[in-house]
Amino acid sequence: MIYVLLGANLGNRVKTLQRAAQLIAEHVGPVVQQSAFYETAPWGVADQPAYLNQVLSVETTLPAENVLVQTQVIEQELGRVRFEKWGARVIDIDILYYSDLVLKSDTLTIPHPYLHQRRFTLVPLAEIAPSFVHPVLGKTTRQLLAECDDEGEVALFN
Ligand code: ATP
Ligand code: CA
Ligand code: CA
Repeated sequence: MIYVLLGANLGNRVKTLQRAAQLIAEHVGPVVQQSAFYETAPWGVADQPAYLNQVLSVETTLPAENVLVQTQVIEQELGRVRFEKWGARVIDIDILYYSDLVLKSDTLTIPHPYLHQRRFTLVPLAEIAPSFVHPVLGKTTRQLLAECDDEGEVALFN
């Protein structure tokens, strides 16, 4: 099982996240669980619109590197243009966990290196995987969230 974080803060955010989930189901594997949408404060670069975030769990037979390639193709297809690091974008797809795999290469770090420092990631992840244990830190999502000192706002989005 893999966990991916979707983020969008430009254009029709709901449509983009829905389309991203569809494309992930087609090109990566069946989506097993999906969190609600959360509206979240920007992180890293403050002066940009609020994000919608969602976490999905996905069953896949692809190796991690191929998951990254597929998610990058989906980002391109949905019209992602890169402006500045951590700046606004139509879609961002990050791989949070790939089962309990620990991997560090030039292009891919799993678990995602910032996941435990970001409320916008931990809150939706805690909704669908509260007991999943971080394979490096040895803590559940619930524990990571309780210990996270990020104060960025995260609100359920209806
Ligand atoms: P952050 O990674 O801090 O959330 P970002 O999502 O804005 O920042 P991007 O510009 O989307 O960063 O990605 C930069 C590179 O990160 C990608 O080209 C990819 O090779 C690499 N990367 C490393 N680990 C991961 C991962 N777990 N999931 C997605 N991309 C990753
Ligand atoms: Ca990201
Ligand atoms: Ca990314």
